[in-house]
Amino acid sequence: MQAWNSVLPPHVSAPHYKVIPGTKLTVDALRYQSVNGQKCRHYFLSHFHSDHYCGLHPDFDRGIIYASPPTARLAVMCIGVKVERFRTIDEGEVIEVDGTNISTVSANHCPGAVMFIFETPDGRRHLHCGDMRYTPKMKKWPELSLPFSTVFLDTTYCNPTYSFPPQESTLEFAAEFCAGMMRGRKDVRVVVGAYAIGKERLAFAIAKRLGCSISVSKRKYSMLSACLDKADLDMLKVNDSTSLVLLDGLGNIRGDRLYQYRSESHPCIIGFSPTGWAYARGKKIERVVKKTQQSRIEFETVQSTPKHLRDSEGRKEEEKEEEEKEE
Ligand SMILES: [Zn+2]
Repeated sequence: MQAWNSVLPPHVSAPHYKVIPGTKLTVDALRYQSVNGQKCRHYFLSHFHSDHYCGLHPDFDRGIIYASPPTARLAVMCIGVKVERFRTIDEGEVIEVDGTNISTVSANHCPGAVMFIFETPDGRRHLHCGDMRYTPKMKKWPELSLPFSTVFLDTTYCNPTYSFPPQESTLEFAAEFCAGMMRGRKDVRVVVGAYAIGKERLAFAIAKRLGCSISVSKRKYSMLSACLDKADLDMLKVNDSTSLVLLDGLGNIRGDRLYQYRSESHPCIIGFSPTGWAYARGKKIERVVKKTQQSRIEFETVQSTPKHLRDSEGRKEEEKEEEEKEE
């Protein structure tokens, strides 16, 4: 049996949802050697999450990989792909490949994540979203205001059960919650779980509210230095025992593991596991906070939701009003 991330044999063509219509250009299809029965030479990579870069390895030499500068840096640093395999696309830049013009816009997902806009020689425009977190601000982005012939949408939470509050609200709630819990106390530390890349925003929101630094491992610092701006990087300290906020692996945010973060000066720990999986329609933010003896707290985050998807197609009036208030 093939490993899920192995490279597939040449007779297996990239599936239609990874191929831009009328071209041989693929998105997040590094496992595939063929496109429409021919050799694939152009690979667009939306962001540095393993379910999107699978098939990438240090000796990759099947073609050119197009990505944002942070995504390319992460692939070179973490996987060892040769830097010359990449053609990076800067924000606002338009490149041309086989007669198709390609540009990027932020996907509002993890650092470096982009959506690709393809303008093919037949005059049609196609949008590939990668992993995108919709926000009402996107309605005002000129790059997205023209019509698209095709929108490639891959959303984790495209189920009516999930209808999340705006991310800004959840970040603010968590930051205020921590500020309240820590008011007048010096014995509490906050641990935020994160992916190798992704979920950092919660740690930054809390640290900014508390006016403190964030402690990270050396490896995490190296990875984030490849994709964060200087202002955010300046908030990070490597293995700093005095930081009130720590950013660590999501797997450690469990009741039976949080004890490892305790110290004599900080015997109380608040742990955040930013995930949308535990979310169900109708729950309010306050109701998803759970405490256990180990002080574990579950916190809900936001991705594209059915409500938001409807918004991009044509909203109901009451939703419009609701969003105006949110903005
Ligand atoms: Zn992702």
